[in-house]
Amino acid sequence: MIQRNPTRAIRIGGLAIGGGERIAVQSMCATPTTDTAATLAQLKQLRAAGADIIRVAVDNNKDADALIHMRRESEDAAAAVVSVDLQENYRLAKVLAAHVDKIRYNPGHLYHHQRALSWRDKVADLAELAVRHDCALRIGVNAGSVDPALAESHGDDSVGAMVTSALQHSAHLDRLGFTRYCVSLKDSDPNKVIDACRRFAEARPEVPQHLGVTEAGMPPEGVEKTRIAFEQLLSRGIGDTVRVSLTVRNEEKSMEIEAARRIIDDINAGRVRSVVKFNPDKLNLISCPSCSRVENQSFVDLAQAVKQRTQHARDHAITIAVMGCRVNGPGETDDADLGLWCGPNYVNLKRRGEKVGAFKYDRILDALDRELHAMMAESPS
Ligand code: SF4
Repeated sequence: MIQRNPTRAIRIGGLAIGGGERIAVQSMCATPTTDTAATLAQLKQLRAAGADIIRVAVDNNKDADALIHMRRESEDAAAAVVSVDLQENYRLAKVLAAHVDKIRYNPGHLYHHQRALSWRDKVADLAELAVRHDCALRIGVNAGSVDPALAESHGDDSVGAMVTSALQHSAHLDRLGFTRYCVSLKDSDPNKVIDACRRFAEARPEVPQHLGVTEAGMPPEGVEKTRIAFEQLLSRGIGDTVRVSLTVRNEEKSMEIEAARRIIDDINAGRVRSVVKFNPDKLNLISCPSCSRVENQSFVDLAQAVKQRTQHARDHAITIAVMGCRVNGPGETDDADLGLWCGPNYVNLKRRGEKVGAFKYDRILDALDRELHAMMAESPS
């Protein structure tokens, strides 16, 4: 059995994480939240696959109304343990706290609204709402959207910026007397996830952690990347709830739950590939798990086509990121050698931070190929 760190237990609806409780497995609906029929179908599918917690994203009042409606009117939604992802609009917590079990906020996204208020005041509001409505909180730090001040002060140490952000927010919640929270530190590079989660656990061993490799990509590589991080962390007792983020079609979303359970079972049974490491000398293809922000459903097909079309570069240390939306895509591709992010009709292409152009869906692979060949010529394997 996995020896678990002695984290404190926090209650999320009808279950608890931390404190030696079973590791909870979670996933996230990738359907537009306002499409309540599709979102409920996915929620049902995830519950049937054994999801302990299901996250739903809200961006605006229409999303919030749709989630409230589903929780009120659907037995499945009412019975599920639901975490709301506030994306960039933390103020929606006010209308949603009474209708969910957990609120995930991103410290790096507390700057977009009400700029005159400090993040500390905003977190105090969230904690007060959580107490009043019996919710847990997650401090969800993400490499693609770290607190801008910390990203600047830490320079190249992106892991340090993430860990500092999580420590700052944990300390602030503690000062407010709110301890019903967990922390996540996500990056698309499993080695950075391992580093960040270990550093946080050393500083705050009692705080439960939610583990995940963001934009891990398609199976089987996406599962393998995540497995590397989970093996290195769970085997050291770190991690109280997990999500495997995969780029799959909506009807295949339960693969995230199945993959997470398989990884946990393998680690529990001692089937640990302790020598497996994410290889920085090879082609690294990253793609996001997709969510309600995807505007063109061709995104998953495109990610698969990019994988096939780039196989010839597999022995080159090149990172290609394929992201599903125009909101997070530009930031999430910053660290990639070649980054693609999808709009409704065009796919944007970036080379090492510089925009190359926007291409129709039937033209983007040729444009990518041109940039990839130029890059391979510069750095032969
Ligand atoms: S990159 Fe965009 S579409 Fe992909 S998971 Fe992130 S927010 Fe959703």
